[in-house]
Amino acid sequence: MILPITQDGDPVLRKTSVPVPEELFGTKELATIITNMFDTLDKEKDGVALAAPQVGISYRIFVVRYDRMREPGETVESVAPDTGVFINPSFAKVSRRQSEVPEGCLSVRGIYGTTVRYDRATVRAQDEQGVWFTRGAGGLLAQAFQHETDHLDGILFIDHASELYEQKERQPDHDTEAA
Ligand code: ZN
Repeated sequence: MILPITQDGDPVLRKTSVPVPEELFGTKELATIITNMFDTLDKEKDGVALAAPQVGISYRIFVVRYDRMREPGETVESVAPDTGVFINPSFAKVSRRQSEVPEGCLSVRGIYGTTVRYDRATVRAQDEQGVWFTRGAGGLLAQAFQHETDHLDGILFIDHASELYEQKERQPDHDTEAA
C-alpha cells in the first residue's frame, strides 16, 4: 500500500524512533510495514531510500533501492528492484574522510542543498527475521545510510545543509537523488 510521505513540519519527523522489538521480527505486521515502505518509495522516481518516520511510523527501520543509486555520469539500465532492509541500524565504522555532497529529501520536497557526509560507512543492522548483518558502502549508499539514520534520530538534512535552493521541476539529466 502506498502511504503519504510525511513532510517537514510533521512532528513524527522530529521524534527519535524506537527500536523494533524482538517480538516483531518475522511477523506479518513487520512485513506489511516494509512492503508499504517499498510501495511508497517505488512511486518516487528519484527516491533511493526511505525511513519509517517518512511514512509516519516511529520505528528504527529504513529501506534502500540499490538499483536507483547512480554515481555522476553513470547510467544504470532499468533492472528489477534491488532492495535492502535495515532494522535497528547503527554505524560500525565510518571513514575519516568526509566530503561535500548534493542532497535532497522526500520529506522536504523541492529543496536541495549541500551536506558534509562520511565518504564510507559500515552499518550493522537486523533483517526482517532479526538476523544481524553488516554492510559497508561508499558514495551514494554511504550517504543514504547517514541520511536515513538521521531520520531515525529526528534530524533532517536542512538542519545542517548549506547552499539550500529550491527546484520545483525535476531535471532528468541533472537531478539529485532524494531519500
Ligand atoms: Zn529524507
